[in-house]
Amino acid sequence: MNLANLSPHINTDRYLYKPSLSKYPVLVSYSMRGEEPVVVETLKARALPEGSHDYLLEFLRLYRDAVQVIVDRIWGINEKLSKKKLHKLFYSKLVRLGFRAHHAKEIYIYAKSLVDSARSNGGRKPVLRKLSARVDKYDYRLDLDNMLLTLKLHNGYEVKLKLITHKERVEKFKGWRNYELVVKYDGSEFWVLVYFKRAIKLVKPRTIMAIDLNFDNVTLAIFTLNGRLVKLKKFKTPHRKILTHRIWIERIQRRYSRSWRFIKGVRRAVERHGERIKNISWDYSHKVGDSIAELALKYRSVITLEDLDGLRENNKKDKEFNKRLGLWFYLRMQFCVEYEARERNLEVVKVDPKRTSSKCPRCGGKLFEDGYRVLRCRRCCFIGDRDVVATLNLYKKFIRDTQDVGSLGWP
Ligand SMILES: [Zn+2]
Repeated sequence: MNLANLSPHINTDRYLYKPSLSKYPVLVSYSMRGEEPVVVETLKARALPEGSHDYLLEFLRLYRDAVQVIVDRIWGINEKLSKKKLHKLFYSKLVRLGFRAHHAKEIYIYAKSLVDSARSNGGRKPVLRKLSARVDKYDYRLDLDNMLLTLKLHNGYEVKLKLITHKERVEKFKGWRNYELVVKYDGSEFWVLVYFKRAIKLVKPRTIMAIDLNFDNVTLAIFTLNGRLVKLKKFKTPHRKILTHRIWIERIQRRYSRSWRFIKGVRRAVERHGERIKNISWDYSHKVGDSIAELALKYRSVITLEDLDGLRENNKKDKEFNKRLGLWFYLRMQFCVEYEARERNLEVVKVDPKRTSSKCPRCGGKLFEDGYRVLRCRRCCFIGDRDVVATLNLYKKFIRDTQDVGSLGWP
């Protein structure tokens, strides 16, 4: 299920959740409504019903079936369905089935979002199997001090759930607003995802930090608003360590090309190397993300990253990324940088990475390699380190983008 569909309040354009990041304990999104940016995070907890869970299961089944019925109904309707129209079509029917007012609303909106996303992906009509329900804030009471959740179900039933998760995770959310949750059953246990929201007051930027990620290192450069370089720093990537494990995996898979999946010891060995890769990259991303954000806070920087969604345009880099380290590594890095930055109320901006390492930052001409990681412009004789050139170009793109929009409201 696409989590972005779970909440109509979440602005999917800025939704940071990526499948490759699913191990991260939180989902974060930043939506800019008017002037006030908002952070949304999700707290996930196992939920133990106090007493019988029969009504809760019944509720989840009813809910799923109701969503399915509506999906079936609106799948054939081609006109655009407003909330008003949906309400008119389904509200009273759902209430007659025993749902509360806000259950009904969540059900038809969810059904519509499923249909919309299936259609936009050119997919088939959605068929729901999993038991999962979105519940609006009017239909639950959450007591974070005692980790107790009271859910209002169909036909006036109620269920109390004890939430089980790390204590320190919960502390963070005290004082945040929660406005919606998802309760689900995975066949043996109940889970609850609570959406929390907090408005952030962004730090007013005094400098611009441009970050270039590549195979060998992470380069960051801090510029003043009028373009003077004030700080340059490189972090080496752990690519050699990762490559070593990847080479081991490939070697094993080649040697046991048919059987590695089926021989326990061999499969274990592959998994172990996979684990190591994952741990190395997470440790590194957390650590470097944290250092970068600390530095950005010290310099009051707005952080500029490459928009990796546009990466396919950039063939050379694409090859390097995918073949050697993997795009997932860069996405993870960016995720950690963004996460740590938002924690410090710093703004993060993404710019198109096209030609950032092939265009002369002085005259716009084409750059040529001139020795190891050095680039030279034949038109204006500019010469520079490849990574620094990339940060310069990111900085310039940032300036160009924000001048176009004029959105930062700088003095
Ligand atoms: Zn030039």
